[in-house]
Amino acid sequence: MRVATLGSGSRGNSVYIECGETRFLVDAGFSGAEIARRLAVLGVDPESIQGIVVTHEHRDHTAGIGIAARRWKWPLYITPATERACAPLLRGAETIRHYRGEEPFDLGEVTIHPSSTCHDAADPVALTVTDTRSGLKVGVATDLGRATTPVRVALSGCHFVVLESNHDEIMLRESPYPWSVKQRIGGSRGHLSNRLAADLAVDLLHPELGGFLLAHLSDECNEPEAARDMARKQLERKGYRGVVDVARQEQPSALYDVASLVDTVRNGGPQLEFFGQVVRPPVAPR
Ligand SMILES: [Zn+2]
Ligand SMILES: [Zn+2]
Repeated sequence: MRVATLGSGSRGNSVYIECGETRFLVDAGFSGAEIARRLAVLGVDPESIQGIVVTHEHRDHTAGIGIAARRWKWPLYITPATERACAPLLRGAETIRHYRGEEPFDLGEVTIHPSSTCHDAADPVALTVTDTRSGLKVGVATDLGRATTPVRVALSGCHFVVLESNHDEIMLRESPYPWSVKQRIGGSRGHLSNRLAADLAVDLLHPELGGFLLAHLSDECNEPEAARDMARKQLERKGYRGVVDVARQEQPSALYDVASLVDTVRNGGPQLEFFGQVVRPPVAPR
């Protein structure tokens, strides 16, 4: 199972997941041309994608769903309420496959478990994706507002998690945003701060968790190093030896091979510390 973000942040989000011959996106918040360009960076042919699972209607997650569904005939896996909220993006020519919050469904070789989140959208979800053969489980959890108990339970046992780490609480407080915007971002139906993301990451720890990819960072109110340091410090205190990386807005992340990350933590941690430089296990190109 391999996972990458095509890009992540308030100007567009999309996660690429492949498992055997099954390839799909979670969200597509970029233009059609950008989706194609970013897939090409990962060496993925758009024709090989089998659909987009849409988590909620906010444009940073859906800007490209209509065009991509029409251009490449990708089915849209979407809840009925999110589809209604996405009406301006759809022209009726798209293939729609409805799913419902909390009801698992199959997509090729994986089972997807949606889990309702606390976020200011019509019917927002976080997802876990389980390889039906190996049992490997990947979480995609952004736009969380707060990590509710059901979301924590849903994410437990993941081997790799794309996890929202949206803002630094002090940077948000001191930002030039109007008070109402600060309230929205930092509120219980907005976005998860670095501190709350690190708390959740620690909660999810188990001996076979191979990596966290911190995502949906705010341009204005976060720094990649701040997000990574907060999570890494708390995780390492608990003995975690896996990967902690940060997804960028402008470019795809590395393509993480989940099985090899899990193998590495099973064998005592990747990380050959070399003069303070962390050397990651290589991710083999296909
Ligand atoms: Zn959102
Ligand atoms: Zn978002």
